[in-house]
Amino acid sequence: MQGTDKEIIIQGTPGSPGIAFGPVHVVARGFNAPEVYEIKPTHVAGEQERFREALDKTKIELDDLRSHIDKLSGDDHGKIFDAHLLILEDRTLITKVNSAIEDRHQNAEYGFYVVMQTFLEAMRRINDPYLRERAADIDDVCQRVLRNFKHDEEHDSADRPDHQHILVSFDLSPSDTASIDRNHVLGFATEQGSINSHTVILARSLGIPAIVGLEGAVIDIKTLSSSILDGYTGKLILNPSKETVSDYKKRAQKRKIARKKLETLREAETTTTDGHHITLSANIEFTNELPMVKESGAEGVGLFRTEFYLLDGGEMPDELSQADVYTEVAKAMHPNQTIIRTLDAGGDKITAEPLTQPEPNPFLGWRGIRVSLTRIALFKEQLRAILRASAHGKLGIMFPMVSGLREVRAAKEVLQTAMDELRAENIPFDPNIEVGVMIEIPSAAIMANEIAREVDFFSIGTNDLIQYTVAVDRVNNYVAHLYKPTHPAVIRLMDITVRAAKDNKIWTGICGEMAGDLLIIPLLVGLGIDELSVGAHQLPSIKKAIRSLSQKECSEMVKEALQAASSPEISELSQSMAKRCYPDLLE
Ligand code: PEP
Ligand code: MG
Repeated sequence: MQGTDKEIIIQGTPGSPGIAFGPVHVVARGFNAPEVYEIKPTHVAGEQERFREALDKTKIELDDLRSHIDKLSGDDHGKIFDAHLLILEDRTLITKVNSAIEDRHQNAEYGFYVVMQTFLEAMRRINDPYLRERAADIDDVCQRVLRNFKHDEEHDSADRPDHQHILVSFDLSPSDTASIDRNHVLGFATEQGSINSHTVILARSLGIPAIVGLEGAVIDIKTLSSSILDGYTGKLILNPSKETVSDYKKRAQKRKIARKKLETLREAETTTTDGHHITLSANIEFTNELPMVKESGAEGVGLFRTEFYLLDGGEMPDELSQADVYTEVAKAMHPNQTIIRTLDAGGDKITAEPLTQPEPNPFLGWRGIRVSLTRIALFKEQLRAILRASAHGKLGIMFPMVSGLREVRAAKEVLQTAMDELRAENIPFDPNIEVGVMIEIPSAAIMANEIAREVDFFSIGTNDLIQYTVAVDRVNNYVAHLYKPTHPAVIRLMDITVRAAKDNKIWTGICGEMAGDLLIIPLLVGLGIDELSVGAHQLPSIKKAIRSLSQKECSEMVKEALQAASSPEISELSQSMAKRCYPDLLE
């Protein structure tokens, strides 16, 4: 795709809705990847020389390190660096990087980076713990070499563009996405990622148009091509023609007018046509989302994912700093409720602490309440902070990744200790603070009746409930087609959960992405859900959808859906009601 000005349409998977216009800026992986820029044919030899120098410098560094370790240990422990040194002398690697510089006319560090990343990706996929460990060595060498590239003066300032652009990247982590500068990044497209990853969930929350699954994008797309990113259909259009630009400008304008219209519903009740009220709340990850939440007309925060705030800055904030942040949210949302979810580290999110060995299956591993219950001091600190903040506004506490009754009881015991301590220290808190659990593991849904006796509410985490029910990794594109929100087993587990809650007189919410899916809303209303919590950006259209539905009709439809044996049958039942009741929202 280099060197052509023809309009090119690249199809990916829609990640976050919205249309963005602007020049493309390509970075390889996240924000730590080296800059990529084009070099003149006459500079190829010079770039290859820069590569050789970086390798030489790294070799000297590693040799020194080896002698130093040998001296310190009085033994030959420094030989662990032999493998690193061998990598630097690998002829295939050197040839590949030199060819990349020559063939693609891209800078040396970028050529090196892409060759190494391709190699690493392949190694990480091999199911062999020894090889996976070697991948970590290679990654380490790769970082060293990158640090040792002598800077090209001309491109030193090319780091982050200070103009508005569309970011194209191999991958973005959730924290990369959270730190995106909205004044400059109009949208992003990544090679990796799936619609259920936290990166994309964050983009939807923040209203950043996004596309995922754009294979080969980083290598094929040239920085500075003009482009249109269509987050509705997953298209990235490079060098759009005048006609395409004008067509998209019209579409964007139409969407803008439709959104403006929805804003008039800001103060309106979220009530069905037959008078059934559903609480409509917003999900947040950071406090800077609060103005958007307030503007959206949300009746509260149904999920504050605290892991991004807690783990993003390296060191975990202490109790008082946490209490300040939770108090800020409590006050901003007053008199409405904010549900603070305790740390849900792990899975595709940041781990709570560096692990001695990578987890073979992070989604089935040390995640959520499992981390909290093995790091009691940290857990108690967070609970104390939430309790302190509860004196300033209406808060709720929610535990993630609960698989059964024992974990709920154990978590509540720590909460009780935190309350006792604060009472003894004369620190005010709300003793009646609501305590709930996420229902996101099938075992918890099946045990909902017993768990309901221990808590004040359930919040169904459909993102995980789907992945754990149908055994489909939510961020794995190879099996994305099997990730079915309307799988009969998922709907039946949700029904079990709601009925158990009603029998025990507690309420049920949904804070997974299903709550923001316009085609599925009739099912959720019919299941008898009491609260839906969605990204602030999605909230106005969900409110309009609920206001267009009859609870009675929806529950009749759900009776049929609960008898259905396949996902398409259930989707069809819900979709046809959505299309009949709010066709304008689905355009
Ligand atoms: C969920 O699993 O549906 C959920 C809301 O939690 P998270 O996406 O943070 O795992
Ligand atoms: Mg979850």
